[in-house]
Formats: sequence, C-alpha cells, structure tokens
Amino acid sequence: MDANEFRTAAKAAIDEIADYHENVVNKNPVATVQPGYLRPLLPASAPLDPEPFEAIRADIQDKIMPGITHWSSPGFMAFFPCSSSYPAAIAEMYSNAFNGAHFNWICSPAVTELETIVLDWLAQALGLPECYTSGGSTHGGGVLHGTASEAILTVMVAARDKYVAAKTSHLPEGSEEKEEETWRLRGKLVALGSAGTHSSTQKAAQVLGVRFATVTVYEEDGFALTGAHLHETLRELTAQGLEPFYLTTTLGTTDVCAVDDFASIAATLAAHNSKNSHGAEVFVHVDAAYAGSALMLPEHQHLTKSFTHFHSFNVNPHKWMLTTFDCSAVFVRSRADLITALSIKPAYLRNEFSDSELVTDYRDWQIPLGRRFRSLKLWFVLRSHGISGLRAHFQQGIARAELLEAKLRTRPDLMTVFTAARFGLVTLRIVGANEDDINKKTAQVYEAVNADGHFYLTSTVVGKDKKFAIRACTSTRAMTDEHIQLLFAIFVREAEKVCH
Ligand code: PLP
Repeated sequence: MDANEFRTAAKAAIDEIADYHENVVNKNPVATVQPGYLRPLLPASAPLDPEPFEAIRADIQDKIMPGITHWSSPGFMAFFPCSSSYPAAIAEMYSNAFNGAHFNWICSPAVTELETIVLDWLAQALGLPECYTSGGSTHGGGVLHGTASEAILTVMVAARDKYVAAKTSHLPEGSEEKEEETWRLRGKLVALGSAGTHSSTQKAAQVLGVRFATVTVYEEDGFALTGAHLHETLRELTAQGLEPFYLTTTLGTTDVCAVDDFASIAATLAAHNSKNSHGAEVFVHVDAAYAGSALMLPEHQHLTKSFTHFHSFNVNPHKWMLTTFDCSAVFVRSRADLITALSIKPAYLRNEFSDSELVTDYRDWQIPLGRRFRSLKLWFVLRSHGISGLRAHFQQGIARAELLEAKLRTRPDLMTVFTAARFGLVTLRIVGANEDDINKKTAQVYEAVNADGHFYLTSTVVGKDKKFAIRACTSTRAMTDEHIQLLFAIFVREAEKVCH
C-alpha cells in the first residue's frame, strides 16, 4: 500500500468507523456467536500473495463485526465501561503515525514532555495533593501505563524494594549479612488488600512471589476497608513473624463501588509504621481505576485529602474518561521509589541526555522498555471536551444510577437495592424467603435479563455470607434515561416471573 492507496483506504475506513459509532446505539451489546465461530470463516494459513485492501476491509463487516461485543452500546452495563471519543480516536491515528518505542527522552522528546505536562493537568483536575505532581515538594509525578494491573504490579515492585531496603538499612552495604537478611525478609513479605480489592492486586503478589492477605470488609461499613479491621489483620500477620509491606486501598471497588475509609487507614498505618524497625513503612496504593475519574467533580475531591499519607494512585482514563483503551494514569508521591526499583542502565540505552539527569526517562517508571504515545489521546480528550464537558459526562452517569435506584425502590415487593447508587453503579437483589432463595431468584433474574439481549449486566458475590447481587453500571456514554426505564421494566417483568 503506498501513500495514495493509504489515503483512499483510510478515508473509507474512517467513514465506516463513524457509521459504526452512529449506529452502535441501536445494537444489542453482546455478540451472539458461538465459541470457535471464526475459524471456519478464515483460511487455514496466511495468504502467500498480497490481497487487495478492499477484500480485507470487507471482512471487518462480514467476519469480525458478528464477533464484536459493543462496549459503546447503551445497553452495555457490565463490568465498568471502556469509553472512547472521536478526539481520542484521532490521537491514536497520530500516535500510530509517529510509531516508536519512546523509552528514553531522546526517543521522542515530545512524547516524554507531553506526558509529564498532561499528567500534571490531570492531577490538578482530579484534586490530587501537590505531592503527586512533577513539580511537587516530594518529587513525585505521573506516568501512563497500559492498565491498572500493570500499575499495581509496578508500584508493588517499588514497595517491596523500598521496604526491604529500609529494614536492612542498618546493615553494611555489600555485606553477606545484608544479603542474607534481604532474602530472609523477601520470604516473609505480605501484600494486603481488602476482600473488595480488584484481583489485580492478588495477581501482582502472585507474579512477585510474595504472600497475599485480605482484610475482611462488612456490609455495615458499605464494604469499605476500615482502619480498625486493617489493624486486626496487621496484628495477626506480625504475630506470625510476617512483614506486611504493601496495601491496595480502593476508591470505587469493582463489585459495589465501595470507597475505603482513607482517613482511618492512614491513622492505623501511622501507628503501625511507628512501631516498625528502621523507618520501614507499609506502602499504600490507591486504586481508583474506575471511580477516580469522578474526582474531577469538586464535590468528591475531599476524598483525596488523606492521599498525602499514601504513596501512589491510579485512575484509568480508558474506563470513564472517554480515552480509548489503553490508558492508565499512575501517580507517585516520590518518583525515586520507582526509579530505584526499576532503573537499569545497560550501555546501549545510555545517552548524553539521560546521563545528564536533566530529562525523564519513563522506561524507569515502568516494567516494559518500550512505550506508546498515550498522552496524545489524553491531551486531545482534555482539550476537546474541557474539564466542564468531562464533568457533565460523569454527572450524567452518576445521575442515571440514581434514577435507576429510585425506580428500583418503587417495587419493594420484588427487589431491594443492595448497595445504593455510587459513581454510576447500583447493585440489587430480588426478594425471597431466605438468603438462599434470594440468591437463587436474583441469579434467575440476572440470567433472564442478559438473555433478553437489550442489556449486558454482570453480577457479584459479596461479603462473608456470599450474597449474590446484580450490578448495573450506568456510565456508558450513549445511555439515556429511556434505557434506564427499559431496564427497569425488564427487571420488573423478570422479577414478577420468579416471585409470583
Ligand atoms: N482496579 C479496579 C478497581 C477495577 O475495577 C479494575 C477493572 O475493572 C482493575 C483494577 C483492573 O483494570 P485493568 O484492566 O486496567 O488492569
């Protein structure tokens, strides 16, 4: 394909993409194909000879589209959303055009410098404490990773090295004693999360080869992690000779959008850390992958007050902030935590700018070497929508969940609101004679609503008594109040079938 052929093909593709976005509002969210549907439709091996682009493009409609689940469909209420917008899509085109691995500043100075600036803008817009900005008093700053899972694994590596370094700081550098103590401690490390913490924290612990423990959360606390329960777990672990070194707290848990009690967690950890030897501290990460976007709304910014006591924070603009996947913004209070753990300088990566230490080399803030030009799409999104446009988008998602909650509460004979609308997520259960009956009926309604096809919902099982609940996330951009009315009508229809 030469440049002229590219112009023609790409313009046709853009028309097709715009048509897709215009029509996605009419599509049911979930693909209805069966497993293995694609193999019989494609040849057994790659073509030996080049194919015309038109033939390739035609296969998008005929073969790929049937197997696409439409995350932008207004009926998509599962998981958390994966949002996009035209400005983000255009930025991706430029990013592809400038295609590069961008690991050092000199690999494309604009890629590094725009990322630093845009993440400072984002930190400011979210009301994060100044310590998370590049010019802040603790030399922190932001970096873009692909996903929250990557962010959590990365900060856990930094946490491990920081903790072990502090615990062995009294031993002579390079001594056998220090080496032995380092490896003994590594075998004792425990990463912590709550029972509502996303599985990516457990996975990170699994990858790092450290233990993982959960702190129980309770319905009466709104399933939030509290300092009191954290204290209990810390006490039990330390009594066993283990070393809790890391904690994920969450702003908006995946199951019910709980917000952990940051102030009491900070107080518990201050007391715990003060008893620890050689200044070793539990490293605290705030996972705000989904709900963190809502911090753009001034009424939620009080939640960030305790973050000065914590070490890192992440939000995924690819979830709610209209920025095409993948884009996870990670902020640290001290960039040295990442650089100390992750910087390796083989001769082939050295250059005068890196050696001068006047530039940021983001390869030292992440696990992979190469990196995409992700800041471009976030920059386009922030400028095209403006903070006011994004705030309106978040407010709409929040208001629709409140509307759904209000409607659910009109039928207490059929259903109960399990957790109230919070950041665009409401969870519900169907009424029944006892817990088993409630779980059974709720599961039946859940299956029936998904089988209807208009909506795609996910469910969760929460708490020590394993309550089954239906999740409805209302922050997909194309959703309107009419979709909420329709969903409610389907809930009523299906609940009546199992209740009467
Ligand atoms: N943290 C929370 C609270 C989430 O809800 C999710 C996914 O929904 C993740 C982390 C993982 O996100 P990612 O797919 O970016 O790794």
